[in-house]
Amino acid sequence: MIRRKLFGTNGVRGLANIDLTPSFVSSLGQAIGTFFGSSKTIYLGMDGRTSGPFIKYALMSGLMSVGCRVVDTGMVPTPALQYAVTAEEADGGVMITASHNPPEYNGIKVAGKDGIEISGEDEKAIEDTYYAGSWKTVSWEQVHEASTNSGILDLYRKAIKKHVDVDSITKAGLKVVVDPGNGVGSLVTPYLLRELGCAVTTINSHIDGISPSRMPEPTPASLQDLMITVKALGADLGIAHDGDADRAVFIDDRGGFQWGDRTFGLIEKFFLKSNPGSVIVTPVSSSQMIAEIAESFHGKVEFTRVGSTVVSRRMVEIGAMLGGEENGGVFYGPHQSVRDGAMTAALLLDIIAKEGKALSELLNELPRYYSVKDKVVCPNNMKNEVTREFISAVKAERFETIDGIKIWPDKKSWILIRPSGTEPIFRIFVESTTEKKTRELLDANKKLLINIVKKLKRRLT
Ligand code: MG
Repeated sequence: MIRRKLFGTNGVRGLANIDLTPSFVSSLGQAIGTFFGSSKTIYLGMDGRTSGPFIKYALMSGLMSVGCRVVDTGMVPTPALQYAVTAEEADGGVMITASHNPPEYNGIKVAGKDGIEISGEDEKAIEDTYYAGSWKTVSWEQVHEASTNSGILDLYRKAIKKHVDVDSITKAGLKVVVDPGNGVGSLVTPYLLRELGCAVTTINSHIDGISPSRMPEPTPASLQDLMITVKALGADLGIAHDGDADRAVFIDDRGGFQWGDRTFGLIEKFFLKSNPGSVIVTPVSSSQMIAEIAESFHGKVEFTRVGSTVVSRRMVEIGAMLGGEENGGVFYGPHQSVRDGAMTAALLLDIIAKEGKALSELLNELPRYYSVKDKVVCPNNMKNEVTREFISAVKAERFETIDGIKIWPDKKSWILIRPSGTEPIFRIFVESTTEKKTRELLDANKKLLINIVKKLKRRLT
């Protein structure tokens, strides 16, 4: 058998019934169950995808055949499952979701007993068992019963409410439009906001694994209907989730789309105001606004490689209580150190209510930067050499290599070049103080990178 890597940045992903077939999933379930150990209690959840049930039963079958006690929690957001694993002291959790990917995809994420996705080494251990077929099935009388637990959504909503000022949000009487994109966020966020005293209108809020109204990824293009609805209803804000609701993206009171690092910056500012001296964890691809806010409000920023699991693990390692990503992922440590869409929504409502200002106004008070993303095609086997050439070709007063190469041509501008782990491309991120300057930096560095790739290709052929 050709050995390929099963786990990517966020678990195992693939096309339902093509990559993720019942036989593959049940064997993977046996390998995952072996990793946890027989008689261990595993909470199992799934998002709203059409392929969820067949994958769930195949996975359950694999887990149970090696002796695990499986607790089926039904359709739940990923952070709800992660919360329940720790709150109810399970030994681990498995979530069936492809997060923001299109509806034909599905995936499997594995969390440890701390609710955080397991490390790369643990994933490798599962892959080793899978490829060696070295799981140990138990005898018939050691197979445990499968049980269900339909109470974790209540538990999860209650936990979130403990971290915000429910009275103050209720008094503010906010009008909110929620767009869960036909995903599992439909099961939590509209109810949570109603309990917080908001006037809630929903769109795309019935679960439908076909994704009939928009793609699961919340982007300016996919949130057109939400922007229009917020404006038409004169709402205070709009909230959108990705397919498994671990991320939240916001539309302001003027109907404007807000990137995740801006709303994260707002949460960071108010968090630091009440917790000065705290460390904020964020990947190198985040806006320098995050560092600037930390400087202004007596905080410190810890930059990491890109990836939600990396942020979670670093938070736990250094005892940090807040993390965030530019895609709308916010990690609120006092609740749990994983990204959590409903918690993020509640935190933002708390700020709006306490400040008594419109969301657009609060966001306008933050430092303003412009950013742009692009990519350059490059064969995988040339990526290391291209990286080396790029470093020696650029002149920068400062550069670092936490993840890819990040260079600062001046104090307020940066360019990040990262080789993709899954595709034969380099991703380019650029940020600066004006739109024009950002565009110029992108053009110049993209050209430089393309020329290096061309030159090395010629040398190799
Ligand atoms: Mg997600």
